[in-house]
Amino acid sequence: MRILILGPQGSGKGTQAKRMASSRGGVHVATGDILRAAAAEGSELGRRIEPILERGDLVPDDLMIDLIRERLADADAFVLDGFPRTLPQAEALDAMLAEIGKPLDAVILLQVGDDVATGRLQARSAAEGRADDAPAAIRNRLRLYHELTEPLVGRYREDGMLIAVDGGGSVEKVGADIEDALSQVGVRSR
Ligand code: AMP
Repeated sequence: MRILILGPQGSGKGTQAKRMASSRGGVHVATGDILRAAAAEGSELGRRIEPILERGDLVPDDLMIDLIRERLADADAFVLDGFPRTLPQAEALDAMLAEIGKPLDAVILLQVGDDVATGRLQARSAAEGRADDAPAAIRNRLRLYHELTEPLVGRYREDGMLIAVDGGGSVEKVGADIEDALSQVGVRSR
């Protein structure tokens, strides 16, 4: 199973990606988690990206592409969460998956409106205190999603890969809808 999950911050992408990876067997490759871990370690990379994460800006494409190339080379089954976020990243992903002979099985789009996304991010901010869940960073992240990431949806739809799922319900309901949609298109568990 090789799945890409797309959707705005607050759509429940991370939660659903984790569920899918553990129920279907695969690695959850979450670029946000990888970057936050690097920032917490205080490595050279971490120090460079920390202010970018805090503002809710995007880390440069070349850095992200190198990071993902390393992770995907080792993984046969994966759920990719948080990458690609820009057209150059999507083009690089296509090329690298073709090169290593590991095409995607499906792209899941979790759809939620900005009001729901913002509400969930504010609740997470209260619970976890993530710096990029502060109001200005939330606005910036959603703006960048619409500007740079949302255009990728049309690309995957044209490729016949896109499965759109309403992300507005409970974790269990959205998870069940994703499983139904994947079995309808014949995506195997492993
Ligand atoms: P996330 O947890 O996916 O919302 O990611 C947290 C932050 O990590 C984002 O706001 C960006 O600063 C950075 N980030 C994660 N994935 C990418 C990516 N593919 N391209 C650029 N920046 C990213």
